[in-house]
Amino acid sequence: MRYGRALLEVEKPGRYEGLEAGAVVKDWGAARCRVALCFPDVYEIGMSHLGLPILYAAVNGRDGLLAERAYAPWHDMEALLRARGWPLVTRESGRALREFDLVGFTLPYELVATNVLAMLDLGGVPLLAADRGQGDPLVLGGGPVAANPEPLADFFDALFIGEAEEGLVEAVEAVAAAGPGRADRLDALAGIDGVYVPSRVRPRYRGGRFDGFDPAIRVRRRLVPDLDGARPPARPLVPFISTVHERLAVEIARGCTRGCRFCQAGYLYRPVRERAGRAVCDLVRDGLGATGFDEVGLLSLSTGDYTGIGPLLVSLMDEHAGDRVSVSLPSLRVDSLEPRLLEEVRRVRRTGFTVAPEAGTARLRAVINKNVSEEEILGAARRIFDAGWKAVKLYFMVGLPYETQDDRQGIVDLVRRVAAEMPAGRGRVTVSLSNFVPKAHTPFQWVRQIGLDEIREIQGFFRERLQRVKRVELKWHDARLSALEGVIARGDRRVGAAVLAAYRLGCRMDSWTSELRWDAWQEALAGAGLDLAGALAARDPDGPLPWDGVDVGLDPGFLRREWERAGAGAATADCRDGNCHGCGLCDFDRVRPRTGQPLAYPPPSPPPVPDEPDPPPRLRLRFSKVGPASLLAHLETVAALHRALRAAGVPIVYSRGFHPQPRMTLGPALPLGTESLAEVGDVKVREVPPLAEIQRRANQHLPEGLRIEAVWVLPPDTKGLTGGGTREEYRVTPTPEADRAAAGAGGWDARVASFWAAAPFQVVKRRKHKKDRVLDAREFVEGLWRDGADLVVRVRRRDDGTTVGPEDLVHALAGLPDGVRAAARVVKERSDR
Ligand code: SF4
Repeated sequence: MRYGRALLEVEKPGRYEGLEAGAVVKDWGAARCRVALCFPDVYEIGMSHLGLPILYAAVNGRDGLLAERAYAPWHDMEALLRARGWPLVTRESGRALREFDLVGFTLPYELVATNVLAMLDLGGVPLLAADRGQGDPLVLGGGPVAANPEPLADFFDALFIGEAEEGLVEAVEAVAAAGPGRADRLDALAGIDGVYVPSRVRPRYRGGRFDGFDPAIRVRRRLVPDLDGARPPARPLVPFISTVHERLAVEIARGCTRGCRFCQAGYLYRPVRERAGRAVCDLVRDGLGATGFDEVGLLSLSTGDYTGIGPLLVSLMDEHAGDRVSVSLPSLRVDSLEPRLLEEVRRVRRTGFTVAPEAGTARLRAVINKNVSEEEILGAARRIFDAGWKAVKLYFMVGLPYETQDDRQGIVDLVRRVAAEMPAGRGRVTVSLSNFVPKAHTPFQWVRQIGLDEIREIQGFFRERLQRVKRVELKWHDARLSALEGVIARGDRRVGAAVLAAYRLGCRMDSWTSELRWDAWQEALAGAGLDLAGALAARDPDGPLPWDGVDVGLDPGFLRREWERAGAGAATADCRDGNCHGCGLCDFDRVRPRTGQPLAYPPPSPPPVPDEPDPPPRLRLRFSKVGPASLLAHLETVAALHRALRAAGVPIVYSRGFHPQPRMTLGPALPLGTESLAEVGDVKVREVPPLAEIQRRANQHLPEGLRIEAVWVLPPDTKGLTGGGTREEYRVTPTPEADRAAAGAGGWDARVASFWAAAPFQVVKRRKHKKDRVLDAREFVEGLWRDGADLVVRVRRRDDGTTVGPEDLVHALAGLPDGVRAAARVVKERSDR
């Protein structure tokens, strides 16, 4: 099933229906095993996540296996589903989660726990693994949170440890081969390397403390030894609604061996594995051609550490700058900012620059193994400002082990020194304070996490000292979110009871400060017998830990040695260049640091500056926007057409300046949900391309329902699309409620006659987040008649763009009360443009 026009009742309907390219719809009946891949946060966040599309492509790439996707519904959608008794369904076939053989969750951060339960519940899957029976799907989890699987163990039949693209297909094949029996399927999963089956081990407790498992187990994590052997999907998933990052994401390396002692990802994703420079260039070229994106994100835990990042950037810019492609490097370390790199970054990125000293003094930075000196931090800030950046963000962590008041004062002093590097009269420093949360499989896994009052006191200290410093902005993380994250990150199986209770008390979207229901969480924790101080307390370094069943490959003594070195403030150098510290991850055969296939700097060549005729030719597009595409907002429609035209090879003209924009205009915005057979858009081009060919190619890159119907070259003196004076004709199919109301008032013909008899005829124009506006519809309506079961309305649009909405008019004609929809369908059939 599809949710259809009921989606107009929720805030962002495009989160739930179609509107993306690259989705794969396979034959349900022909599949040997069907997997629903779930991301337990909203669609905009999930679509910016690198992992899920890789798994989706891997499963769908196999004959007879089928993967579809679902994302967590926002509160309004959950309320709609519950009110109508509808299940949460996948985007591809619209089937409920309960219909799949496997339901797999990516678990990127701890505070998605209640969202997982909401998705299971709405998808018709029992929440507890123990309650699932024959015919229910097996529920599988994976991702960083699975490194300590115990807090969520009761909800999962199995958890995948490590990098799932290495073993997920194997696991799905094993389930397919096992036949329909639930126990057989679970046996098959348990036989796969890297799969942890919680029901096969029983946690022991002594004196209220976790005391080990019966039987003792160790599940070894899976990893991809060589990124060049793991090519990402050839046709990436491209969302057409606005998401967190609208760019082509290319993973250039995995793993970071800098060894920051607080960083779980640094330990979970060892060793460092770089993709060869040539392979990155190929992926960027293919990805841009397939998507039409104008930004590329080069992703890794520490992009600046990529061997040959400078030549890579120059090569990419030389190849793509002429097409107005920009490159972003989201993670650069201070000490990777050599001048040449900064120069290259300046060519491609002009937004703010982030520097992460993490701690305010050299002593504490040595404790956490963030080995950058104050001189390097200030030097980097100076070079960043000198190079023309106006804004620098500084990231710090508070509540670190061995932190003292001097270290906090050190942050204040460092911020003031960085601020002093700002050029006179301009610049801004944003200071972001996060709260340290100790994580499993790190050298700090045993330490105490500071409590709420301590965090608040520390935040107060910074507010007092930094909030009034000119051109310095202070941001801090909600202490309650950090406390909850800490409870789940190092919890044992008893935490699951609190998560379940919190879910039942209505907690959802807990990682959003605005949505956190702290009272409910406190009640849930107390109900599960957990007190916050106990949950955040130090762990016995000689005692058992809830994540002992997970072997991420680290030598058991390594983390202990690193913890001791932290106390001594001793540095552990990066091992990427052969300086191995024996962490245990590498066998130096299959698994080893893989670096050193960088590109050389290409010969200098001036960046291509495309010729632009003056005035440039202008193309007019006539396009239709029906079905799911009617759920695209105006700017999303512009973005979809822009990307499709780029992917089709149309030489679009861009504005000048720091943020070049396509010289593209569409006709007046359609209300969300209104379909149209008569939309128009203008785009300026450097030269006229073969029109039939670009129309055909662009249509291959547009979402379902958005289609270019015709393209032609405009005579130079043709009026543009801004302004009004147009006439438009709409067909409105009334809802049964509107039909009933109209029948009660003499029928539609009588209502239409009363419209022509009335002067004025007032219609309320509803506007989201703005005051309603009352218009006299007689000023705008030039034609109104009944055509079978529909009403047809011809309206005039004023020069300022104002007109009366056809659905608002029908609402007023029927005399419906507020909040009742008047139109089951509205289609714009004609426009005189
Ligand atoms: S085994 Fe040695 S080279 Fe490999 S990740 Fe660990 S410290 Fe680095």
